[in-house]
Amino acid sequence: MPDFRRRELLAVLAGLTAFGLGMAEAWAAPGKSTKSKRQATRKSVGKPTPPTLAKPKPKLIVLDPGHGGRDPGALGARGTQEKKVVFTIAMEVQRELQAGGRYRVLLTRSGDSYVALRERVARAQAAKADLFLSLHADSHDNPDVRGASVYTLSEEASDREAAALAARENRADAVVSGMRLADKPDNVAQTLVAMSQRGTVNESRRLAETIVATFAKNGVRLLPRTHRQAGFAVLTSPEVPAALVELGYLSNPQDEKLLTVRQHQISLARALRASVDAYFGAASATRKA
Ligand SMILES: [Zn+2]
Repeated sequence: MPDFRRRELLAVLAGLTAFGLGMAEAWAAPGKSTKSKRQATRKSVGKPTPPTLAKPKPKLIVLDPGHGGRDPGALGARGTQEKKVVFTIAMEVQRELQAGGRYRVLLTRSGDSYVALRERVARAQAAKADLFLSLHADSHDNPDVRGASVYTLSEEASDREAAALAARENRADAVVSGMRLADKPDNVAQTLVAMSQRGTVNESRRLAETIVATFAKNGVRLLPRTHRQAGFAVLTSPEVPAALVELGYLSNPQDEKLLTVRQHQISLARALRASVDAYFGAASATRKA
């Protein structure tokens, strides 16, 4: 989002909060922190530090292993549980990302625990994450369907397949109600969030395209039309670029086996680390230009 539009939005948000028009506090708080971060960034513009001397601040990546606790996620024919494989792979991605010293990594769950979907988003926002990656493994009625896919948020889940998947991934949210801004009758709140999301959604799309390209380069099998859009609850942060990666299909025997094989888990983790590298590499190149 262009800086001026974000500032304008924050001003409106602050005004609405002051007049008590029913904005959730949880949305206002990260906005304030972003504003102060932006101000700090602007201040530094006046006194440029030579790039050779500046040690870049590590980016904060929030990894979100899907499901957990009483919600096992998809199940494979051999009994593989989605919540377990995605957690193992998330730990591997964390190791990969932290190894280079360029990133700090937080996980939305630290073990086999249940965390509501909105809570996962709230944690990423509270931590002021630079990136949010939700990791999943999919399931399909047709056992021949296999490969990875990447999702970003859409206003309307136009693709029927995407809509069905969104419903499936969102279902857990109904059990424990977190922050449910989408259910608020307040049209103003929805419009404001949509405005803020527009910029983030564009960044998220760039992230997804980068992941798809990097997966292809690293020999990770992908679904056709692999970047899709859906209304996943975990992708609704108005501030943090986010993508949901389905690493393969547990309903496909080959994919199920691969997802449990250590070498394949490491390959996926490396492809994700390379994707994050490429995303931030391109971002800083754009800023310099
Ligand atoms: Zn899932």
